[in-house]
Amino acid sequence: MQVFISLGSNLQTPLRQVTQACNTLRQHRDIQLRRCSHWYRSQAVGPPQPDYINGAAELDTSLTPEALLDELQAIEQQQQRERIQHWGPRTLDLDILLYGCDIIATERLTVPHPWMTKRNFVLQPLLDIAPQLVLPNGTSIASLLQTLGNKGLSKLQPGEDIEQR
Ligand code: ATP
Ligand code: MG
Ligand code: MG
Repeated sequence: MQVFISLGSNLQTPLRQVTQACNTLRQHRDIQLRRCSHWYRSQAVGPPQPDYINGAAELDTSLTPEALLDELQAIEQQQQRERIQHWGPRTLDLDILLYGCDIIATERLTVPHPWMTKRNFVLQPLLDIAPQLVLPNGTSIASLLQTLGNKGLSKLQPGEDIEQR
C-alpha cells in the first residue's frame, strides 16, 4: 500500500531526530521508504515552544494501518518521545497522513490525518514528494496549500540545524 507520513521534531537536535527516524524506516523489514521531502523549519502550533523541523515521506508497506501505527509509535518511543502536554514539544512525531485512498475512523486512527489540510508544514513537504497528490475526497494538496500560504515556514538550508537543546 502507498502511504504518506509526516515527521516532526523540536527537541534534542531536531534534524538529527527526523533523519534518524528515516534511517530506521529504511531498515524496516515490512516498509520500503520511497521518497523523503526536503526539511522545513516551522513555527510551533499549540503552547509556546521551540521551532520544529518538519518533513514528509512516502512509504510502501504490507502492514495494516494499525500495525504501521504500532511501528511508528515504537520508533517514537525508541527516540524518547514523551507525552506530557497535548501539542507540546517532542523529540519525534510520526503521523500517518494517507493510507492509499482509505478512510479510517477508529479509536486509534483517523486517516486522512484530521489536521493535515490546515497545516502548511505538513502539506508543503508532501507536495515536494507528490505534486499531483489528491485526498480521497478529490481535493488536491496543491490547492489546499495555496489557500493556506507559507506563513511561518521556511525550507531548511544546507548545513542549517536548529541549535542544540
Ligand atoms: P496531531 O494529531 O494534532 O498531529 P499529535 O501528533 O501530537 O497530534 P500524538 O500524541 O502523536 O498526537 O498521538 C495521539 C494519538 O493520535 C495516538 O495515540 C494515535 O492513536 C492517534 N492518531 C489518530 N490518528 C492518527 C494518525 N493518522 N497518525 C498518527 N496517530 C494518530
Ligand atoms: Mg502530529
Ligand atoms: Mg502524532
